[in-house]
Amino acid sequence: MSSVTERIRQSLVSLHMARALETLDHILRKLEKGELSAIEAIDALLAEELTLREGRRIGVALRTARLMPIKTLESFDFSFQPSLDRNRIMALAELEFVRRAEVLHLLGPPGTGKSHLATAIGVAAVKAGRSVYRSTLVELIEALGKAEREGRLAEKLRFYSRASLLIVDEIGYLPITTGGANLFFQLVNARYEKGAMILTSNRGFAEWGDIFGDPVVATALLDRLLHHAVVVQIEGASYRLRNHADLIPEHTRAHATLTPPPPPKRRGRPPRMETLSHSMG
Ligand code: ADP
Ligand code: MG
Repeated sequence: MSSVTERIRQSLVSLHMARALETLDHILRKLEKGELSAIEAIDALLAEELTLREGRRIGVALRTARLMPIKTLESFDFSFQPSLDRNRIMALAELEFVRRAEVLHLLGPPGTGKSHLATAIGVAAVKAGRSVYRSTLVELIEALGKAEREGRLAEKLRFYSRASLLIVDEIGYLPITTGGANLFFQLVNARYEKGAMILTSNRGFAEWGDIFGDPVVATALLDRLLHHAVVVQIEGASYRLRNHADLIPEHTRAHATLTPPPPPKRRGRPPRMETLSHSMG
């Protein structure tokens, strides 16, 4: 004998709605007690399933985006970093810059929360249904270099261009070879005005020539990365060292030594890749 509830159970199994199946008994009991109307019961059943699936989607997306361990804006102590405008960060977390495919630069000395904030905005983007990918600059360039050696560079560039938000962390800690700078330029060019980026760096833009080992590539990179850009500069002490400030010699303490960004100037078309690779030899 197949009752209606038995049929519902079978349907939920066939539809792979495990969470709804789990809560069915509970909801049926509430119906019997008159605590729910029929329409509320349908709503509750679907909401349970949807909440579970949404949570699962977010979990998978956070891992795929490499946003683990998770950082959030709620766990960021703005009072520790008074140079940082909380309202500005909260406005950026509304993700309009992602929709507009713009670039957010987070600049500041080590330990001032650049990676934390980049990750937190990435997490907000994942929750809002955006595709996100996070990498350090060195990892990114290594992956592009490997793909190039294996003849899969175009495919790899497409992969990094797909995410609607690409986070490139730790620009400036390690010097980049000319070949590496060239690969990063190709990626930036591919994403230019198509996808948003968050870049974090402990160095000012004036030092990009040193970081990328070539002032021509650095200029071409900055040309694109500052065109539609928001620059947030953090000037403060390291959160990592907050309890050990007395152990750090004065001259190595994190001081704000960043040069202000040059105004985003654009005269005519930016140099094309061919001319760039040519001038790089
Ligand atoms: P940066 O990338 O600027 O070097 P991080 O974002 O990695 O610094 O911060 C270092 C550590 O301190 C991380 O664990 C981060 O979560 C934590 N942290 C930094 N600033 C804050 C803050 N203002 N409130 C809470 N935690 C912070
Ligand atoms: Mg960092």
